Amino acid sequence: MEHRTDFQLSFWEKQTYFSSCDVLVVGGGLVGLFSALELKMRQPALSITVLDRGPFLPYGASTRNAGFACFGSISELLDDLKTLSEDQVFSLVERRYKGLLKMRSLLGDDAIDYEPLGGYEVFTETEVSLSDECLGSMDTFNVALKTITGLERTYVDSSSDLREFGFSGVKRMIQNRGEGQLDTGKMMKALLNRARAAGVEVLTGIGVEKIEESSSHVQLYTTHGFPVKAQSVLITTNAFARELMPELDVRPGRAQVLITQPIDGLKLKGSFHYDRGYYYFRNVGDRILFGGGRNLDFSGEETTDFGLTETIQTRLEELLKNMILPDASYAIDQRWSGIMGLGPDRMPIVKPISQRLFCAVRMGGMGVAIGSLVGEEAATMILR
Ligand SMILES: Cc1cc2nc3c(=O)[nH]c(=O)nc-3n(C[C@H](O)[C@H](O)[C@H](O)COP(=O)(O)OP(=O)(O)OC[C@H]3O[C@@H](n4cnc5c(N)ncnc54)[C@H](O)[C@@H]3O)c2cc1C
Repeated sequence: MEHRTDFQLSFWEKQTYFSSCDVLVVGGGLVGLFSALELKMRQPALSITVLDRGPFLPYGASTRNAGFACFGSISELLDDLKTLSEDQVFSLVERRYKGLLKMRSLLGDDAIDYEPLGGYEVFTETEVSLSDECLGSMDTFNVALKTITGLERTYVDSSSDLREFGFSGVKRMIQNRGEGQLDTGKMMKALLNRARAAGVEVLTGIGVEKIEESSSHVQLYTTHGFPVKAQSVLITTNAFARELMPELDVRPGRAQVLITQPIDGLKLKGSFHYDRGYYYFRNVGDRILFGGGRNLDFSGEETTDFGLTETIQTRLEELLKNMILPDASYAIDQRWSGIMGLGPDRMPIVKPISQRLFCAVRMGGMGVAIGSLVGEEAATMILR
């Protein structure tokens, strides 16, 4: 965004929107908004402002994701166990599960179009050993997750249902019975409305370029040239966190998606993961949303540029035609990308940086699930 030093606020603008506030949140995605809402619900007298540099809406991952309400497919959990302890992996699953419940209860299932259609992991004929490993671990994961989901069997072998969905080349399928899906746009709209109704000031089109802390307050310098003061500041800029805090271990990871036009007689319902979660697809009404392929070019996709590449889009189209919708005729309606905040493992970073400065970043590909709970954790950290 262009830096404008000539921007002169009126007395009224300054008084109403930019006089010193108690907590200023930088980044108006799910985490920033849930944190602000949680702070306001716990302490209504606090003045809270959220600044986002998106030109009219928050512009990161929260308005651009796939809307999977998921907490872990078996291959992803097995992958996580390579970098995290068992306790850490199951505590992450629990945070995602509880996060989803919290979001649903705060915003309401109707407002976010939540549908409990189940999550699935599909395995092709070239993935026999991976599917054997996942099916072999199913009982262990079912025991571990029973206390979290309350389900006797969270995961079930649903390979016998494969014919219903009309795939080609898919040999096995595991269902996660606790997962669902939602409408990403409606979720963010409901959250923005909820935060504003609670008294949180949400302002877009304002980027923060620099932060300075003194013993009495924090001063932020914005892209429009005018400074803003706050007692405490929470950074929730996720993939963009290093622009303000270069010391944080957060890498950007672009995720590209496409969506089809409505498809006559679409059989496929639910959210699906393929290739250890590197590809994901779901129905959105009678359309298919399909994303992934970052593993085709890890270094090229480590970028904060919202763009698309031919390599990944071509692969998405091939898989859509040859594996997911082999018998359907359809057209692609739209393509877009969003930027995730990634790290060496899937643990978010929620921590104080100094006396008055805090951060809650690095939500990976699970921010829809974990965002509300991270907001709760961030609010607790600030109020402490
Ligand atoms: C294509 C895609 C599909 C996904 N699918 C799923 C899914 O199905 N399920 C799931 O659980 N998760 C999914 N995710 C991940 C999920 O969307 C994210 O984890 C979550 O939205 C992160 O929320 P956040 O608030 O931390 O970050 P963001 O939503 O990225 O918000 C960060 C905000 O900070 C703002 N900002 C950045 N720098 C500045 C600055 N200097 N000054 C002011 N503002 C600034 C940005 O404009 C942005 O709005 C997906 C992500 C993508 C990209």
